[in-house]
Amino acid sequence: MRVLKFGGTSLATPRRIRTVTEIIRERNNEPLVIVFSALGGITNLLVRAINLAILGILDRDQLVSAIRGRHGYFLETLAKPEFSHEAKTVIDFQLEEARKLLVDITATASVTEKERARILASGERLSVALLTAILRSNGLSVSPVDATTIIRGDSNFGNSSVDLDTTTKLVNSQLRPQLDHSIAAVTGFIAGTDRGVTATLGRNGSDYSATILGHALNAEAVEIWTDVDGVLSADPRSFDNVQLIPELSFNEANELAVFGAKVIHPKTIRPAAMKSIPIRIKNTFRRKNPGTWIRKPQEISPGKVKGITGREDISVIELTSRQGPIRESTTNIVLSTFKQLGIVCYLHSPGKDDQTARFIIHDDHPKELRAHLESALSGKYDVGIDRSCGIVAVIGDDLSSNQQFQQHLKAVAAEYRIDLPASLLDNEDHNILILTPVPVTVPIIKSLHAFLASNWKQEAQNRQLLSTTFKQEN
Ligand code: ADP
Ligand code: ASP
Ligand code: MG
Repeated sequence: MRVLKFGGTSLATPRRIRTVTEIIRERNNEPLVIVFSALGGITNLLVRAINLAILGILDRDQLVSAIRGRHGYFLETLAKPEFSHEAKTVIDFQLEEARKLLVDITATASVTEKERARILASGERLSVALLTAILRSNGLSVSPVDATTIIRGDSNFGNSSVDLDTTTKLVNSQLRPQLDHSIAAVTGFIAGTDRGVTATLGRNGSDYSATILGHALNAEAVEIWTDVDGVLSADPRSFDNVQLIPELSFNEANELAVFGAKVIHPKTIRPAAMKSIPIRIKNTFRRKNPGTWIRKPQEISPGKVKGITGREDISVIELTSRQGPIRESTTNIVLSTFKQLGIVCYLHSPGKDDQTARFIIHDDHPKELRAHLESALSGKYDVGIDRSCGIVAVIGDDLSSNQQFQQHLKAVAAEYRIDLPASLLDNEDHNILILTPVPVTVPIIKSLHAFLASNWKQEAQNRQLLSTTFKQEN
């Protein structure tokens, strides 16, 4: 049993969908669950439509006809008429619902998170209807599944937290029995609350849907099919000479995703890691390439530096005690205050001494956060908030003993005036996390990546030299 996920980039044109169909046919010798995102560009279009509706300047008819036209064209090109009828009914129904919601949004000049989730979710509902018709036209037996019935999330409609236990029960009672006779085509990105209301898992959430289902089904592996060869040493849209990372541990992949690598949704790793289910990232358009394996650390060969990422939207909360060391109970009070306010804490670490502690969170927290913390801590601590921070994350093995890298890191820190000991965040792993002021986050990533890329090139040349010498000598 395997879960495959195809993102919007793999579903952007009829030609791409033909390739997706071939991949699914090749894999159809075991039970399959396929998670589909919306067609490439559709979620962005819906986001824009909501914004224009709030401003009262959305041309709804044009929006609906553009989306219907695109799905209709794909159906005509790729599906047989006898399988298209059902898809057309779903498409009409979904677009009518979205249109009605957009009328209300225009009338009130505002949108609730529930309405937004309902509209954005239509992208995945349309693509599952479309792909079901296309796969059936190719002789496959397929059951479309709306994830609201099997993935249970809370009512944080734009970034729902999933209850894995309830989801596992629902998946095993409702989805598993279907897999004996058909492929399940499941909407990515969507969860349902206990009242069956649609919620979304955050942008790019279909990756997370795939590992949630893998977890629930104890799948052999989860395959994430996208438009790059796998996880790369840095974002290929912004950096040159990026390298494929063939293997990552769950932890390393999690840090890359949480600290900015946009190739997978940050919550993707945990459900798979909990059950040691390997995740494979593959390129839909270069199928023969091995991709990236993400699995247990015991199963991967140790590497050196693997990848660099970063983000520029960090706030650092610094707590200073006025009376003695900061205890675990204080840390727990801070963490539970974050929880109450719906704030995710990426990391917490000691500060410069045992009377300070740092908490790293996203910078979109409420203005009143300081007041909330001060009152939760009964005024016994000073709370400092620095809202314009970045973070650079270097992922790999034995970074502290890699002399060359350490030297370069020191030089970069001096160039950008980063106080290295003070900005290093404690970490149990070999990875290095550095706090930076926002203006220098990207230049630092660039500089570190360029250094590593030249090392990799040198290593590759040495390897080549070695193998030619070996061949000549034999
Ligand atoms: P999908 O539609 O398949 O979900 P996404 O656009 O969400 O695809 O994610 C794939 C993209 O992530 C790639 O095209 C690439 O530009 C970007 N990306 C950012 N950082 C990385 C990285 N470290 N490795 C690989 N891809 C990355
Ligand atoms: N369609 C959604 C998005 O664009 C979810 C996903 O692609 O994973 O964010
Ligand atoms: Mg994505």
